[in-house]
Amino acid sequence: MEIHQTQLPLLTPFRTSLGVEQVRNALILIYKSKDLVAFSECVTFENPFYVSEDDTTALHIIKDHLAKVLIDDPKPAEFVERVAKIRGHNMAKAAIEMLLWDFHCKLENESLAHALGDSKGYAEVGIALGMDKPVLLIKNVEAALSKGYRRIKIKIKRGKEYELIKSLRDVYPDIPLSVDANGDYDLNDLDALKRLDRFGLLYFEQPLDHDDLLDHARLAMEISTPICLDESITSLRRARQAFDIHAAEIINIKPGRLGGLSNSLEVARIARENGGHAWVGGMLETGVGRAFNIALASNKLADLPGDTSPNEVYFARDIVSNPFKMGKNGTIVPNSGPGIGVELDYEYLRKSTKKSWKIIS
Ligand code: MG
Repeated sequence: MEIHQTQLPLLTPFRTSLGVEQVRNALILIYKSKDLVAFSECVTFENPFYVSEDDTTALHIIKDHLAKVLIDDPKPAEFVERVAKIRGHNMAKAAIEMLLWDFHCKLENESLAHALGDSKGYAEVGIALGMDKPVLLIKNVEAALSKGYRRIKIKIKRGKEYELIKSLRDVYPDIPLSVDANGDYDLNDLDALKRLDRFGLLYFEQPLDHDDLLDHARLAMEISTPICLDESITSLRRARQAFDIHAAEIINIKPGRLGGLSNSLEVARIARENGGHAWVGGMLETGVGRAFNIALASNKLADLPGDTSPNEVYFARDIVSNPFKMGKNGTIVPNSGPGIGVELDYEYLRKSTKKSWKIIS
């Protein structure tokens, strides 16, 4: 297995309540076994701001604990079982679990979307826009709508929400709109959160702390906008508990945060069984990670548009030579080739790689 630590410049800085991203440092995994080459991406960032993992911890867990489990090419579900005693480190685990999905699909000459079952044949695509001045944001929304995006999501932060959303709603009273606070509020902000109810948002994503469930349930009793949880849902148990206590009606499923595709599908199933909804989020993935997300988002259990825009929105150049294109109707068709079906642009991978490791077993 090779791990490449790459650095891809973003076209424009991506601003959330957690900070600003100017470049995406992506960890790309390349695995060779049985004359096949499988790919994956670890979605950690340089800093442990979104979750407690970062690139360094993920590299350590992959190199020192997970790589040895690959010795007999376990199926993804077997891998999940074998590493269950390692607590946390979901993003590191997900990188290997997804690598095994790509590997086994290629072994069976089957596309990932097909292997995941119940495919709609397309993913419905929304866009996540970073925070900006209202006038710039309106321009970005206008551009996104003209491209056919099915839902617009705006990153917000405490104290900056009302004017921003009001200025957008003044121009676009009816578009499918949601907001994501990445955990920036607490229950002391109840008045500010209640004021957003009047804007008819599809949902409010992760308003409260990253590991909270209970306060979200309290908030849900006070506001009419449905709550969508992202950061708080780190396991099947927490997904079940969120629905049990009515802390959320919608879950943003991210394979990295949940330890892989198997758990992601299971969480989407839990949402469905509880009368809720699920959609696939994004972590500014390169074309490699994005191919997994698009395949997952094409599953029938993902019943709301996801943050799975084509990469031309974020990067001048992707590390795959067959990046996704979105249709005018706001959908992307998952790759039909074996596995994730991406062709790696090895030349650009080499150019953008800052450091790499080889693990031989
Ligand atoms: Mg989010």
